Amino acid sequence: MKLGRFASVTVLAVFLVIGFVSYVTLFVFLRDHGGLRSSAVYGFLALYCLFCFIVCLVMEPGQVPSHYVPDVEGEEIPGHEPGKNVANPRRCDSCCRQKPPRCHHCRLCRSCVLKMDHHCRWINNCIGHWNYKAFFNLVLFATLASCYSSVVFITRVYEKGWHFPGSSTANFVYVTSGLVLLGLSLVLASFLGWHVYLIAHNLTTIEYYEGVRARWLAKKSGQSYSHPFDLGIYRNVLSILGPNVLLWFWPTAVGHLRDGTNFQVSRND
Ligand SMILES: [Zn+2]
Ligand SMILES: [Zn+2]
Repeated sequence: MKLGRFASVTVLAVFLVIGFVSYVTLFVFLRDHGGLRSSAVYGFLALYCLFCFIVCLVMEPGQVPSHYVPDVEGEEIPGHEPGKNVANPRRCDSCCRQKPPRCHHCRLCRSCVLKMDHHCRWINNCIGHWNYKAFFNLVLFATLASCYSSVVFITRVYEKGWHFPGSSTANFVYVTSGLVLLGLSLVLASFLGWHVYLIAHNLTTIEYYEGVRARWLAKKSGQSYSHPFDLGIYRNVLSILGPNVLLWFWPTAVGHLRDGTNFQVSRND
């Protein structure tokens, strides 16, 4: 756990946005509209979003174990980074060590990250093997909270007009916040859809772009390419979110994950 990750302008900005949106939703949009139940539902979504954000911040994405050696006797990974597989191990020149499959070097973290998805500047941390589930839950609950807030705003405006209690400056801030929230909801919903797609295909963001290139290269040489870790939607979802549906939305429930240095490979190739 690195508490230094909290000392970042972008992390502070996210805390401020969550705080400001929560204030506007609870004490302006819902003040004379909606009851205690609406406030409780939004309060839960906002607090859970905050919880997932903190988990993403403090949870390590996954470092290569010091005892790691490539399993040269193990199964090959067809199509995994063309020309590179476990028989021809991948090496990180910066860390001067072997990289397990799906591992990538992050220049910002200055280390190799297991099953790296991307480096998130808003979280000031890499999203990888161990904290991806927390990240997915963060995106999910941020989308739900943002959409809930937007619906409350639209309903309030529809029923009582554009004028909110307070000065004209405050009114301008509230209306602008509501309109920005509508845009934020669309962005977050698109981002959530993207990560649902990645989970359904057992892809990371990096692997998606590698796959585009690999497919193009394969097509040029008259071959076909398929993602080697795609086990089918059902098994892909279980392998990432876990076998217990009740724990899919608990960000720290990652006991089902392997050590992040080896992954089940599709047998369809
Ligand atoms: Zn490295
Ligand atoms: Zn990083």
